[in-house]
Amino acid sequence: MTDLEQSPTQNGETDDRRDDRGYEVQHYISGKRVASRSGRTTAIFNPAIGAPAGRVHLASDDEVNAAVAAAKAAFPAWSAQPPLSRARVMFRFLELIQARRNDLAKLIVAEHGKVFSDAQGEVARAIDVIEFATGIPQLLKGEYTEQISRGMDAYSIRQPLGVCAGITPFNFPAMVPMWMAPIAIATGNTFVLKPSERDPSPSLMIAELLKEAGLPDGVFNVVQGDKTAVDALLVHPDVEAISFVGSTPIAEYIYRTGTAHGKRVQALGGAKNHMVIMPDADIEQCCDALMGAAYGSAGERCMAISVAVAVGDIGDELVAKLKDRVKTIKVAEGNTPDAEMGPVVTAAAKQRIESLIATGVTEKATLVVDGRNLKVKDYENGFFCGGSLFDNVTPEMTIYKEEIFGPVLCVVRAPDLKTAVEIIENNEYGNGVAIYTRDGGVAREFTRNINVGMVGVNVPLPVPMAFNSFGGWKKSLFGDQHVYGPEGVRFYTRHKAVMTRWPDSIAKGAEFAFPQMK
Ligand code: NAD
Repeated sequence: MTDLEQSPTQNGETDDRRDDRGYEVQHYISGKRVASRSGRTTAIFNPAIGAPAGRVHLASDDEVNAAVAAAKAAFPAWSAQPPLSRARVMFRFLELIQARRNDLAKLIVAEHGKVFSDAQGEVARAIDVIEFATGIPQLLKGEYTEQISRGMDAYSIRQPLGVCAGITPFNFPAMVPMWMAPIAIATGNTFVLKPSERDPSPSLMIAELLKEAGLPDGVFNVVQGDKTAVDALLVHPDVEAISFVGSTPIAEYIYRTGTAHGKRVQALGGAKNHMVIMPDADIEQCCDALMGAAYGSAGERCMAISVAVAVGDIGDELVAKLKDRVKTIKVAEGNTPDAEMGPVVTAAAKQRIESLIATGVTEKATLVVDGRNLKVKDYENGFFCGGSLFDNVTPEMTIYKEEIFGPVLCVVRAPDLKTAVEIIENNEYGNGVAIYTRDGGVAREFTRNINVGMVGVNVPLPVPMAFNSFGGWKKSLFGDQHVYGPEGVRFYTRHKAVMTRWPDSIAKGAEFAFPQMK
């Protein structure tokens, strides 16, 4: 079977997912789709239906080597293009992806399961980064100092690294690759993407739109795969830098292995994000914020709020109001109009979430709303979980410590802000945090002192825009630079300092002392 007629990336339609033969998702190397020589594949599920819809090829060393070789070969010509030429490719890519944004969102719904409006939001945030990358000539400007010594000037420039690789998670199959690739490419690097094997189709649509935008073959390549492909990239001598986003144990492994092989690595990990609700907060606003931030995308967001810390006496009213709302979340297949939450990504994810809920009950948290055993009409085999709400959760409990990555909100009670802050500071993750209060002084102190990378004041999901940078602290990030924005530009370039003078200003005679200003 050839994949080309059947792949949904060809026309943006997803109807062929119900075809018994399924579709195939291959690698993309040197501007062409390529099958795995080994024949290794794994199933791609439609999580709402709960059945395989297609298959993705899994790379072995052969395909990884071919992709890196293609990227290496493309690097000299691509990095020599003026930044403005590279920006113009980004402008064309931006136009193409804007025109196909709903097709891309449909692909995300079909393989990830999130609701269509949420997938549209994901694509919008991916587009933001492409827009940022169109400004690369401005971002690559160096600095110049005249007359650092008599007759001598100095300037600094930032140059691309070479072949960069991106390894991305299932939960944002379009946005997270776009956190990396547009900036890596616009700064003059070439790129090999290893997307999640759970929802690989968006990667091919992106690759084909980049080609249509005029990107030379080999500048952007995709290897589909699992650990085998990741390990081959981590040790490949021609890969200069690795960007990773995924769970903390894998992020730590990527960071250690990649840096041990001499690569620049940024590895973003998992999260346990808290929202502090102060007694003076507007309770209705807090409930609205928590509903979207805890249950949006079925809780499968690295910035999802999974812990609400209710300070003082606000907890009872908060839990009572949340209870009614969590029970009525509209859980449905992602294309259903007005759906608020789709399925989780796999049967294993559903089972893991439900077993953590059982552990929470055993450990004596109060299960206020139980979302287990939900059946959605016409989608009885889908991987659906209803929203769950726990109260009286404490930091010793498993449901507090582990990243559940599902639609489960834990309410922790704290007598005062000091206790709330201690809880957050002792948590091993440090991705995002929010505080809801009307008191500017409290918000300011909290913002200044909390040991978390992204902070929202009356903003539940403080995801920075593309012209800032995104990243957590503690076990939510291994490495020094955050992704996209100015930190992304720094990550994908290295600094060079140049000093110049001209023969008629050079003094006669050798100088043996260390240079100093004259
Ligand atoms: P994951 O860690 O299982 O997989 C991420 C990538 O690593 C995938 O491409 C996968 O194929 C690869 N991988 C998996 N196991 C591997 C192994 N043993 N060796 C080498 N590579 C391996 O993560 P996921 O389930 O796809 O995504 C969810 C996780 O990602 C959550 O923990 C979430 O918090 C995190 N995440 C973090 C951010 C952030 O910005 N910090 C953003 C999105 C997701």
